[in-house]
Order: sequence, then C-alpha cells, then structure tokens
Amino acid sequence: MIEKKVQDQVNDQIQAEFQSGWLYLAYAAWFEERDLDGFGNWMRIQWQEEQEHGMKFYDHILRRGGEVELKDLEKPTVEAESVVDVFEAVLAHEQYITKRIHSLYDMAREEGDYPLQTLLNWFIDEQVEEEEMAESILERLKMVADDSAALYMMDQELAARSPQKDGEEQQ
Ligand code: MG
Repeated sequence: MIEKKVQDQVNDQIQAEFQSGWLYLAYAAWFEERDLDGFGNWMRIQWQEEQEHGMKFYDHILRRGGEVELKDLEKPTVEAESVVDVFEAVLAHEQYITKRIHSLYDMAREEGDYPLQTLLNWFIDEQVEEEEMAESILERLKMVADDSAALYMMDQELAARSPQKDGEEQQ
C-alpha cells in the first residue's frame, strides 16, 4: 500500500514529467521549424523519455494499490533567440527536476517509504545524466558560437541519437 501523502506527491511528479515532455516537444518544433532536424530529433527523444519517466511513477502507484491522478498540463513557452538560449533553458529545467527528485527522496525517507526510495535511486542517477548531457551540449554550442558549419556538424551528430533502453548508457 502507498500512503496518501506519498501518493499525492508521486502524482505531482507524474505531472512534472509529462510537463517536461511537453516542453521538449515544443523545443523539437522550434528546431524543426528552423531546419535543425538533428536537434529536433534529440528533443523528440527527450520527449519520449519524459513520458517513460512519467509512466514509471504511474506504474509505481498502481503496483502498490494506489490511485493515479492525472493533472492538467500547461502550455509550454519557448522564449529563445538562439540555440544557446534553448540549451541554457534545458539545463535550468533539468536542474529544477533534479531538485524535485531530491525533495521527493527526502519525503520518502521521512515517511519510511522504502519502495519509493528504490525507484528514486534510478531517477537520481538519471538526473545526473540529464544534467551532464545538457551541460556538455551547451558548452559545445558556446564554442561553436556563430559558426554555422560547426552548428550543422552538431546537428548531424544529434540526428544519430536513438532512443535508449533502460540500463544503457546515454549517447
Ligand atoms: Mg524526467
């Protein structure tokens, strides 16, 4: 069984993961509108992964006999003038998600909820990867600056990213 207090916060996290996905899909469109389809591909994979994250929490509640409550998603806003702006926002967003995961972990520990702590261990590792990946793309983009040939090369590289399976290293 899952305690109501824990369940409420896990339901909030389902919303946060799907909201992240919605944001990434908006970024995918932003790139694809500008013919940067490799970056678009990278964002589409993020979108898919966020849905998988949401579903991990969804399954967790159901497996423990709880009730899933799906909440409204907000319209995602993309205020970016450059590719660097987008990745600054992506990094900030992932740092925000990391904070949320850590607070959930604190709550699970305080409530003595061991199964949720185990699930969150996976998310804690995942967030290290998410931030590492966003940060490395951002740093490279800053080096590229206004060099469109270099940006094109990066776009080609990101076009090759394919969805990962659980347990695989991020490419
Ligand atoms: Mg996520």
